[in-house]
Amino acid sequence: MVLKIAIQKSGRLNEDSMKLLKECGIDIANGVNKLKAEANNFPLEVYFLRDDDIPQYVEDGVADIGFVGENVVYEKNKKVQVVEQLGFGKCRLSIAVARNEEYNDVNFLHGKRIATSYPVIVKKFMQERGVEAEIHEISGSVEIAPGIGLAHAICDLVSSGSTLFMNGLKEVETILRSQAVLIKSIGFTEEKQRLLDKLLFRIKAVKKAKNNKYVLLNAPDDKLDEIIRLLPGMKSPSVLPLAQSGWSSVHSVLNENDFWDIIEKLKEAGAQGILVVPIEKMIV
Ligand code: ATP
Ligand code: ZN
Repeated sequence: MVLKIAIQKSGRLNEDSMKLLKECGIDIANGVNKLKAEANNFPLEVYFLRDDDIPQYVEDGVADIGFVGENVVYEKNKKVQVVEQLGFGKCRLSIAVARNEEYNDVNFLHGKRIATSYPVIVKKFMQERGVEAEIHEISGSVEIAPGIGLAHAICDLVSSGSTLFMNGLKEVETILRSQAVLIKSIGFTEEKQRLLDKLLFRIKAVKKAKNNKYVLLNAPDDKLDEIIRLLPGMKSPSVLPLAQSGWSSVHSVLNENDFWDIIEKLKEAGAQGILVVPIEKMIV
């Protein structure tokens, strides 16, 4: 029994998808022009596909699971289940208009033509807002549509916004925030589920490790209580005496979100020699 996973063959999600599997300790034999590959040390078979096709393959059960952008999952609207957000491939699906347009709200789009590769998502958004717009589906280079008079607005994926800027456009509405997710097919045998749980356990450990840092610092003993209070740790920080009396070494784990805040407070409280080390895996 193997778990069959579909990932993007080439494009923005390919590298991070392969990297995540590798960080999960899964070793995949690399072939050139590969369509399918097998893992050496995990019951996993990898199918390399166009991202647009992944939801269909997973719905049909040709692949059991897949890594794909949420934007594609919602657009394709197949019978698949989103199991886990993967933390890469972050982007947003936004509406943009020419920079010189006077845009106040979505009513601007009433009676206008919108070019997009995401007709399903855009139609739903317009219906929810009660705006009647003509949706014109095109498959690529959406950003040039206003410039050549094909549409008044576009709806496309944005990350930095530089493509919009270069085409004289401005972002006016965000319809969806997206990242890569793990999807699974609906009918899953217990055996497959056990394999998926094993993979998910590893994915969660990798994700958690990325969001946390291991911190080591030296503290004068008379400041220890105050410093320990600032540090959450996995249970509580470890404290080891230094060779020099009156000083201790404190070890702990910090979440990336409050990281700088806490480091500043630690320094103020008298911590010295603060070292911050990446964590490879984190199992709680
Ligand atoms: P394919 O040949 O597989 O159909 P594609 O051209 O449709 O590839 P890519 O441009 O490689 O797709 O993007 C794949 C996914 O990467 C997108 O669906 C989206 O989830 C994510 N992504 C992240 N940032 C961006 C961005 N700035 N622009 C486009 N997609 C992005
Ligand atoms: Zn695609």
